Parts: sequence; structure tokens; C-alpha cells
Amino acid sequence: NSDIAMYHAKEIGRNNYQFFTADMNQQIMERHLLETDLRRAAERKEFQLYFQPVIDMPEQKLKSMEALLRWKHPKLGSVPPSKFILLAEETGMIISIGEWVLKEACLQIKAWQERGYQVPRVAINLSARQFRCKTLVADITRILNETGVSPSSLTLEITESMLIQNVDEAVEILTQLRLMGFELSIDDFGTGYSSLGYLKFYPINILKIDRSFIQNIVSEPNDAAIIAAILAMAKTLKVAVIAEGVETQEQVTFLTQQGCNRYQGFYFSEPLTAEELESKLCASQ
Ligand code: C2E
Ligand code: MG
Ligand code: MG
Ligand code: MG
Repeated sequence: NSDIAMYHAKEIGRNNYQFFTADMNQQIMERHLLETDLRRAAERKEFQLYFQPVIDMPEQKLKSMEALLRWKHPKLGSVPPSKFILLAEETGMIISIGEWVLKEACLQIKAWQERGYQVPRVAINLSARQFRCKTLVADITRILNETGVSPSSLTLEITESMLIQNVDEAVEILTQLRLMGFELSIDDFGTGYSSLGYLKFYPINILKIDRSFIQNIVSEPNDAAIIAAILAMAKTLKVAVIAEGVETQEQVTFLTQQGCNRYQGFYFSEPLTAEELESKLCASQ
């Protein structure tokens, strides 16, 4: 462990060893412990899926929902994805975790359907490593077959950064997924370094405008301008838009004026347990 610590110290501080504080040592230890625990989290049944509603206004209709992973650590309590998704990505554990997420979401969709509910699409987050995995389509197909869920029940969320490298390959994978019947959405839109123009190459259904632009729309003219540009472009490309991280009535009012009527955020609902979400579903005719 001290070898790793020394290596990191050199990397981080170059020759300035004083930068390598006890604090950093602590961080490396924590990372190591977290990694060990994360490896066992699935078999110990410490993962849980939450579901956050996506609402269409003004009807207040539940349009879809996003599955969000939670890790209930026996000692640390609830560990947010921001603390473990990157680690899972770096160690490759994200592949098996991602499969768990997809399977769990499918089992939940199936259970709701069997109880007679009309279930809107459930969006799943795909990580970069999953997206580039050669067996992605085969793995997804297997899980859908095992659970008896149709691609028309799911949306796959990817991020812009996954689209800027190997454009041809990305187009091919996405086209394949679209033809299977999945809906495709670009998450955290606006935070990538890509130009807006590249979008026309991809068979995308939805753009999710990142929360960082929504946060200050009412007070920041630049953010408001970016949103106006995204909405105009989405209209041209016939792509739907979801505003992420909507927390206030003022934001809703502003977005509505701009022509955006689909929202996800604490103003409407926090991520809910499957049980809580069920009360928002309608019986199918
Ligand atoms: P994301 O996909 O952009 O998900 C939206 C995040 O914003 C969620 O955080 C959600 O709880 C949060 N959020 C929603 N509305 C609001 C709001 O009004 N205000 C604020 N402050 N936050 C809001 P969460 O669940 O902590 O997830 C963070 C990120 O972790 C996700 O961002 C996604 O990138 C990743 N993630 C979550 N679950 C999975 C998963 O199953 N697989 C993968 N690969 N990544 C996941
Ligand atoms: Mg997402
Ligand atoms: Mg997002
Ligand atoms: Mg986001």
C-alpha cells in the first residue's frame, strides 16, 4: 500500500512531497476499502434501484422514469453514485453492476405489468465502459429474454463524451439498439465538449439538458441562451427534450415559456423506491 501511496504522491505532487498529506493517504485507504466492499455489494444484496419520475406538463402526466442506483453500505449508510460509479468504471466492475441494474429494472417492469399497471419507459444509465463493451448488445438481449421485457419498455441513456470518439462505431451500435426498439437519450447534455452539429449523425430520441444549465436559468442570461439554442436545435432535429434537475416553480415557468414541457427534478419528485413509484402508475385498460 505504501508503494501505491508513494506512486500517487509523485504523480500528484511531482517533487513537492509536502503536497502528499495524511489526508491523501486516507483517501487512498478509503478507495481501497470501498473497492473491496463494492466487489461484494451485489452478492450481499446491498444495491437498490430508485425511480425518478419524468413529468409532462401541463397535464402532469408521468411520461417516463429514470432508474438510479443506490448502494446501502452496512457501515457507511447510503453511498451516492458520485462516490462509486467512477471507481466501478475504473476497475471494470461497472460491467457486472450495469447488468444487475438492467436486470433489476426489467424484473421491476415485469412485476408492475403483471400487477396490471401501464408502465411508461424506464431509462437506464449506460456507462462509457459498458457502451464500448463488445458484448453490449448480446448482454442486453440475454437479459431481456430472461426477464421477458421488450426493448419498447426501455430507454438507454448515454453521454456526449461517449459519442465523440469512434463516431462510426458509435453510430453503428446506436443504430442497432434503435432498430431493436430501444429509445435513446443523451444525458447531461451541454456538458460535453462537442459541437451541437454532430447530433444529426446519431439516431437519438431525447436530449436531457444538464442540471447545471437549469440551476441558474432565471438569473444567468448565458444559461438561458444555451437552453434556447438547445430547444431550437432539438425542434429542428425532431428530438424531445427533458430538463434535468428542476427544483423551482420559476424554472418551470421559464422553461415553459421557452417551449420545454418535460421535466425531471426535485420540484416534481425525488427518486422513489419501487413501492413509492407504484402509487403513481395507472391501471392498464
Ligand atoms: P444522471 O443520470 O444525470 O441522474 C440524475 C441525477 O440528478 C441523480 O443523481 C438524481 O438524483 C439527481 N437529481 C434529479 N433531480 C434533481 C434536482 O432537482 N436537484 C438535484 N440537486 N439533483 C437532482 P444520482 O442518483 O446521485 O446519480 C448521479 C449520477 O450517477 C447519475 O447522473 C448517473 O450519471 C450516475 N448513475 C446513477 N445510477 C447509475 C447506474 O445505474 N449506472 C450508471 N452507469 N450510472 C449511474
Ligand atoms: Mg441519467
Ligand atoms: Mg442526467
Ligand atoms: Mg446530470
